[in-house]
Amino acid sequence: MDLDTDVLVIGGGMAGLAAGIRSQERGANTTLIRKGQSATSYSSGAIDVSGYLPGGSQQLLSAREGIEAITSLYPLHPYSILGFGSADNDDVPGLAIERVGQAVEWLTKHLKSTPAQLYGGIDSNLEGITLVGTKKPTALLQQTIWPGEFAVDDEGVMLFLGIKGVSDLNPKIASKTFLDNQARTGEPPHKVGNASLDIAPFGHGYNLSTTNIARWLDREENLVTFIEQVKKKAEQFGATYVALPPILGLEENLKNQKALQEATGASVFELLAFPPSVPSFRLQRGLERVFIEKGGHLLIGHEAEPCGIESSKITEVLARSPRRKVEITTRSVVLASGKYIGGGLAATVEGLRETVFGLMTVTDEFRESGKTRPQRLTNVVSLSPESHSLFGCGLSVDQFLRPVNPDGDATAENLFAAGSILAGYSYAMEKCGLGVALATGHYAGETAAANATGGGV
Ligand SMILES: Cc1cc2nc3c(=O)[nH]c(=O)nc-3n(C[C@H](O)[C@H](O)[C@H](O)COP(=O)(O)OP(=O)(O)OC[C@H]3O[C@@H](n4cnc5c(N)ncnc54)[C@H](O)[C@@H]3O)c2cc1C
Repeated sequence: MDLDTDVLVIGGGMAGLAAGIRSQERGANTTLIRKGQSATSYSSGAIDVSGYLPGGSQQLLSAREGIEAITSLYPLHPYSILGFGSADNDDVPGLAIERVGQAVEWLTKHLKSTPAQLYGGIDSNLEGITLVGTKKPTALLQQTIWPGEFAVDDEGVMLFLGIKGVSDLNPKIASKTFLDNQARTGEPPHKVGNASLDIAPFGHGYNLSTTNIARWLDREENLVTFIEQVKKKAEQFGATYVALPPILGLEENLKNQKALQEATGASVFELLAFPPSVPSFRLQRGLERVFIEKGGHLLIGHEAEPCGIESSKITEVLARSPRRKVEITTRSVVLASGKYIGGGLAATVEGLRETVFGLMTVTDEFRESGKTRPQRLTNVVSLSPESHSLFGCGLSVDQFLRPVNPDGDATAENLFAAGSILAGYSYAMEKCGLGVALATGHYAGETAAANATGGGV
């Protein structure tokens, strides 16, 4: 089968979908292929933009503050590259903040009509609460994960409410960790409780997954008994904040949250979860929905075959699915194939490899890593602010996000890269994973569309 498109996006995580939606909006006919699931759909669903400085352990108050510092200190960080704009731009932090801010507002607007509706922005980091009772700084939380202003509510009472049979949340441990932290910082709420619901939605109270309960709560008839039980527990504890595992629904979470809040008079919200989480599923589905609504062509289960770049332009890519081959002719390509989880980078004993075009890969210090054993790029301490160099490996790109060769020239004039395949940052340490993917995807979509429709880069 043959297919002709203005822009081909390889990868369907946050970076690929942001690029695809933006490129389609910019008037380029866009096809997106993804071979499987993405790191985006294994995330907590909170959009981190800048939570910590590289190597730092002090939380940043806002993403704006983080981008300003990063672009001043780390010239090859993806946020700095977004700030270059043109060779004569001397306000790199200003342009980077403007571009990231625009991408964040754009995403918030697009996801407003989906179950992944967002709350927040780059001017103030929010505190999301996790299933283990810790807090993490993030720029955007899904509306049903936002706990409300508990940190300034002296009269607040926080209730961690588990569900018997759902092992993701142990309410006793989570409430203890949360309370210990509140005691250490002296911040409210000072009253924290825990309890469990015994709802046995499928006739048994064991081996229940958050995804299955979320599906169960998408059906209106199941909500009535659930609301009654949550209300009873909230009244028993005098709770003003009720923290649940992420179960409020895959589709109806916003409606269900509203109904629970009206019934209890408390702020009822979901905790940030481990992968694969219900919120990340809502995010992935919400983005795909927007892409299709904009007229984009989505091919799930299609893998771009490895191929070389013969001239300075890519005109054809072969995509293979279990049942067919598709020869795709294209004018621009966005490579958003992720890192080790997504499959964009492969690490073997021989070194690091970009899996589709065989592009040059570099370490977090921007040295060629094609022959570096991945073991040499790990830290003996598994969890530390220094993180692992391996996380910072990837592609080195020019100011238009075009991957470069060892001489620093663009490998192909119509190839743009976005998201976690880029080198020079550690999402795990800096808490900026989905933020970098969003902002670079948004920009790559714009440049790829301009290039394909004759506007140049
Ligand atoms: C467990 C975990 C939790 C995380 N939690 C958070 C969080 O809470 N907040 C946050 O901001 N960040 C978080 N991150 C980081 C964040 O998820 C990633 O940085 C981000 O999702 C990267 O997006 P991406 O689009 O670049 O790559 P991915 O989301 O990995 O997408 C890559 C895509 O490329 C496709 N692909 C790869 N090769 C091919 C090919 N040859 N042909 C076709 N398709 C291909 C894959 O199938 C996939 O669709 C987390 C990461 C992990 C691993």
